[in-house]
Amino acid sequence: MVLPDWNLAYDYAAAVGMIMLFVWYGNEKRIPSRAHRAFLGTCIGIFLMVVAEIIEVFFVRYREHISDGAMSIVLYAQIMTILSACLYFAYYIRLTTKVSQKNIENFTLIIKVSSITCFTLVLLNPLVKWLFYFDNHVLKPGKLFVLPYLIGVLVMLSAFGNITKLSREITLRKCVILIVNFFICIAALILQITGVATIFSFALVIGCMTVYHYLQNPHSVMDTTTGQFNRRFMNEYIKYRFDVNKSMGVFLIAMDDFKFINKSYGIDVGDQLLCQVGEYLNGLKYPGEVFRFGSDQFCAVMDKNLSQIEDVADEIHERFMHPWYTESTDGIMMSASICIVKCPQDAADLGELIEILDYSMALAKKTKKGAVCYASEMNLDKIRRDKAVEKAVRLAMDRDEIMVHYQPIYSVSKGAYNSAEALVRLKDDELGWIPPDEFIPIAEKNGFIIDMGDMILEKVCCFIRDFNLKESNIEYIEVNISTVQLMHKDFASRAKKILEEYDVTPDQINIEITETATMGDVSIVDKNIRELAEYGIKFSLDDYGSGYSNIDYINQMPFSIIKLDKSIIWESFKNVKAGITLEYTIRMLNELQLLIVAEGVETEDMKNHLADIGCHYMQGWYYSKAVCDQDFMALIEKSA
Ligand code: C2E
Ligand code: MG
Ligand code: MG
Repeated sequence: MVLPDWNLAYDYAAAVGMIMLFVWYGNEKRIPSRAHRAFLGTCIGIFLMVVAEIIEVFFVRYREHISDGAMSIVLYAQIMTILSACLYFAYYIRLTTKVSQKNIENFTLIIKVSSITCFTLVLLNPLVKWLFYFDNHVLKPGKLFVLPYLIGVLVMLSAFGNITKLSREITLRKCVILIVNFFICIAALILQITGVATIFSFALVIGCMTVYHYLQNPHSVMDTTTGQFNRRFMNEYIKYRFDVNKSMGVFLIAMDDFKFINKSYGIDVGDQLLCQVGEYLNGLKYPGEVFRFGSDQFCAVMDKNLSQIEDVADEIHERFMHPWYTESTDGIMMSASICIVKCPQDAADLGELIEILDYSMALAKKTKKGAVCYASEMNLDKIRRDKAVEKAVRLAMDRDEIMVHYQPIYSVSKGAYNSAEALVRLKDDELGWIPPDEFIPIAEKNGFIIDMGDMILEKVCCFIRDFNLKESNIEYIEVNISTVQLMHKDFASRAKKILEEYDVTPDQINIEITETATMGDVSIVDKNIRELAEYGIKFSLDDYGSGYSNIDYINQMPFSIIKLDKSIIWESFKNVKAGITLEYTIRMLNELQLLIVAEGVETEDMKNHLADIGCHYMQGWYYSKAVCDQDFMALIEKSA
């Protein structure tokens, strides 16, 4: 209830603040989600309340010219706008935080009861005069005039009280900010009711601005280069659509060979072109949203209408048949591959959708760039198999069921086995034996390889210690180390620690790496290799001849053994030219004083020929497949 000497400055400031907020809000791009609507509802409620308050102050000042009826309408409007702002804000809190089902029911009940109570009070007030009344044209507060305010506070308290878990998007810090804001508003309300200062509306507007800044600020969801929504927000949006069971068509539009455009025309032109593609997609006449998915990729999500999806795909495809123009260039032709995933048929959740998008785009780029492809027409079995394998790896690691088998390596000069290669093995109850060539790349992709690699090294060291290999002819065990492991900065120190833990000396371990080790962060790989080499561990170059066979790499890295890949060995027995190449390669490696292991030796003839042309060690099924530790020891003893 306002007093004649009410200070309107706070109300004017509040109104201006709110108008500024509306201008920002109107200027920014956003998805009309329920949370946004609830926040906007809160702001509109508060703005109307401020307007009603200003009118009310003027009415009080010029009371003699204002009828009781007009005065009552403004007062009722003020009560209703306060309540609606509180309800909207409470609803907003409920949407942006996690609330249990039971609490949702309680919350709905509280909203219903408070709305009905306030509405009834307003309707009955002319008769019962509980809120306010006029005594001889003088406005007087009723017995329950604070009740609407109290109800508003209760609604908000119940909203905060019902938060069971903070949603991922609202961090604890943000939640604290919300709660502090809430208490500032309560304090302002108390100051206002007690007649100290008329700052309640102003405090509410400051609260709205804080929420806008921390929770509704669109800049955190925008990609600054293209002006479209960013990937983080795309995840949030798609998750929301899956949560509310809304079907959708998801388009992935990936520019083909965009790095050549950047190289030929420069990054600025590249950015301008990306901006144009984003704007073009955003301007298409269909209900949907556009996101920047990757550096040269966009994702468009549209409401699902099957016939429309195909039309839109054709329209986008057709657009890429024509040139794109920037300020500084003539028409530039760009090609884009388009993949379409219909949800929920093709993908049931965000994780699956992203995997399908990545996989189908990789496949599309491999088979036919610049074309439209539908996930439903692709063979998605590989993705499903990869997922099942990933699960099997996770399970095996949790249950410590990753096994290591050993394949003996025969020394030509000694006429006996002198070492062995440790090969990881995995058997799943459902999938059976899974080849390492299949699960190692999956473990590398999702980072399991770090723990798995440590586990394998521990098992190897345990084997060396428990079977007392020092006393046997087996001088060392070859352990395969993935490039991903070598790129881990602590790899060398962890490996040393494991060896020390099992009393294994560095000369008992030989690390096998492939040429791909040079493709990642070379400085870390280099540091790890040099640290371990200094420690006394020797290195073998695995699969030589299957990749680039970079001589420079052999010269730079401290390798003592080169393992010739089985493919070049086998080819040399089929093809005369390959035979000559192999012979000269072996001669060169011998000249470089490197030791050579021939892989994939399957027959006696192969073994004899490879020994004749200068291979020092033989590994292959002619001798033995990889076997478990006990079988390996039996094999060694038998051959001794
Ligand atoms: P790789 O290091 O080149 O291992 C040699 C592969 O050739 C092994 O396959 C071995 O079983 C197979 N092999 C050996 N002799 C013959 C033969 O005479 N004939 C035929 N047909 N095959 C032979 P596997 O065990 O399936 O391993 C495949 C690849 O998986 C390995 O190739 C290696 O790159 C990777 N891998 C295996 N174990 C590990 C491990 O513990 N850690 C890491 N990071 N990778 C591993
Ligand atoms: Mg190997
Ligand atoms: Mg190999």
